[in-house]
Amino acid sequence: MPELPEVETTCRGLQKHMAGTVIQQVLLSRSNLRKPVPDNLGSILSGKKVDQVKRRGKYILIFLEEQYVLLIHLGMSGRIIHAPQAIPRDRHDHFCWQINNGGWFHFRDPRRFGLIDLLKKIEIDDYVLFKNLGPEPLDDTFTNKFLGQILQKRDTPIKTLLLNQQIIAGIGNIYACESLFYAGISPLRPAKSLDKNEVNILRDMIRQTLNKAIAAGGSSARDYIQPNGEMGLFQHQWVVYDQEGKACKRLSCTGTIKRSMQAGRSTFYCPCCQQ
Ligand SMILES: [Zn+2]
Repeated sequence: MPELPEVETTCRGLQKHMAGTVIQQVLLSRSNLRKPVPDNLGSILSGKKVDQVKRRGKYILIFLEEQYVLLIHLGMSGRIIHAPQAIPRDRHDHFCWQINNGGWFHFRDPRRFGLIDLLKKIEIDDYVLFKNLGPEPLDDTFTNKFLGQILQKRDTPIKTLLLNQQIIAGIGNIYACESLFYAGISPLRPAKSLDKNEVNILRDMIRQTLNKAIAAGGSSARDYIQPNGEMGLFQHQWVVYDQEGKACKRLSCTGTIKRSMQAGRSTFYCPCCQQ
């Protein structure tokens, strides 16, 4: 599933190619994905100028002139492809739009867990998907003190907690596993067992890992690609995620990467150097 770095990479690609342009044509081949697509999508989008594209958690927000925001969630397998001119439509291209320089964008989602919605700018904070969403880990407000306060009373294993979007927005399985490895913290530990120093290290490693992944264009694990059609490259830098049975990459560690299940998700870690 695309996580914060993949969605951020997608947003940057859309911002680069869409900001300041006008949406001219909208093609919709399904009336529903995970949820019904708004009936008025085509009429609202057509003729509207795009102001900017931003990310919130794992959601793409395309701000239009006047009052509307187009929201896209990539779901499990979604991606957005940009082409400078018309390209053939794939059978999984459920939503395509053209801008006034002739460029096309195709939202491709084979598993159809994605989401398309329209909301008004004034409704964003109260929107059902955002009102309980946790803070952005790359914002300045995500401080050591803030993370420490979140963790201090919770018995939940730290890795499971990092996946909770109401606690922190945007982190999924890949970046939770990778950040905990770099912090040297076992994913199995109760969140409240982390001391102050460990909280500080974890916060730094979350931010470093996310920033490194964004710089690499995200991780192209299965379906995800960048809007320019290039693969993300961060999967080549994974140290624990999907590395079960391989030797630990930490210098001086002789451990082997293990996989275990936590809250129904695979956790990858080194039992030797993650304490
Ligand atoms: Zn190790």
